[in-house]
Amino acid sequence: MSITKHNWTKEEIITIYNKPMMDLLFEAATIHREHHDPNVVQVSTLVSIKTGGCSEDCGYCPQAARYSTGVAGNNLMSVAQVTEQAVQAKSGGSSRVCMGAAWRNVKDGPEFDQVLEMVRTINKMDMEVCCTLGMITENQAQRLAEAGLYAYNHNLDTSEDYYKEVISTRGFEDRLQTIENVRKTSVTVCSGGIIGMGESIEDRAGMLVALSTLNPQPESVPINALVAVEGTPMQDEKPVEIWEMIRMVATTRIVMPHTQVRLSAGRMNMSREGQAMCFFAGANSIFAGDKLLTTPNPDVNEDMKMFELLGLKPQKPFKKAPQRTTIEAADSKFESLGEKPKWTRPNHTIEKNLEVSIKGK
Ligand code: SF4
Repeated sequence: MSITKHNWTKEEIITIYNKPMMDLLFEAATIHREHHDPNVVQVSTLVSIKTGGCSEDCGYCPQAARYSTGVAGNNLMSVAQVTEQAVQAKSGGSSRVCMGAAWRNVKDGPEFDQVLEMVRTINKMDMEVCCTLGMITENQAQRLAEAGLYAYNHNLDTSEDYYKEVISTRGFEDRLQTIENVRKTSVTVCSGGIIGMGESIEDRAGMLVALSTLNPQPESVPINALVAVEGTPMQDEKPVEIWEMIRMVATTRIVMPHTQVRLSAGRMNMSREGQAMCFFAGANSIFAGDKLLTTPNPDVNEDMKMFELLGLKPQKPFKKAPQRTTIEAADSKFESLGEKPKWTRPNHTIEKNLEVSIKGK
């Protein structure tokens, strides 16, 4: 039985990543079968509850206000709108709803209170609820936990070194701080990254070092392939090859045996055969629904056909951790503190981001 190791080095991970493909697949599939049912895949639906107009400069993101990408921004959705989407997601086979807001960080106030109400509502529908809202304080994480939040997503995106080439408006250490804040609650951690942003294999390994040395390791790790959107600084990056995706998934599975490895953005460019190889290599979660925030994703019926073809079954909710109890706002032990934490703003120059921002004006 493989054990969870928390002191992986970059060199060890690079060695795994570069193994002959058949050896890599065999090792990853063996570890996967020790810890998971290989025929069960968790299905999540991502709902963009607040789209576009973001102040950050993440080089891959069409929702950054400074890039001209044609993304139509909207205000925060109402609880009723989100509930409607959650009902649809549940009937389509999803066990989890992940709500994403294009915010740098959460601010206490009516909008956050509205998100807390969304969490309460979805948890009461017996679905796992996840949020991805940017940086959060410990108090905000506690309030989300009380509302019944199951998971909080905060991706590291890439290695600490390469992060400086992608984003200048916030620091890598703030990502880790948010994860630490979530860890002080009962909420599980979802954190992963993106490949295909021009990073090296060393950077991919560096990101896996940062994730796998967390103790405990994240319960869920999304692996995204960049969707190069026109108007973003990364619009000309070449598509990720399926072999790179398979290697990344397999390596993630080996270094984080218990985690749920999620095939996230980029599935539109993957064949069924490619996705099947990723499932064999240890991926056991997908995002369903025809849109991932703003980029296209396979139709849910197509995914269900693929499941049927491969004999895969969607995972039932609360398989990995028990359902949280929802505490109503009136009974909350934690009040809104109106904190204004000083999250880092390095503001170094990333030529590509700057150039595209100027063009976007
Ligand atoms: S990734 Fe998130 S924080 Fe970065 S620009 Fe997009 S919405 Fe904003």
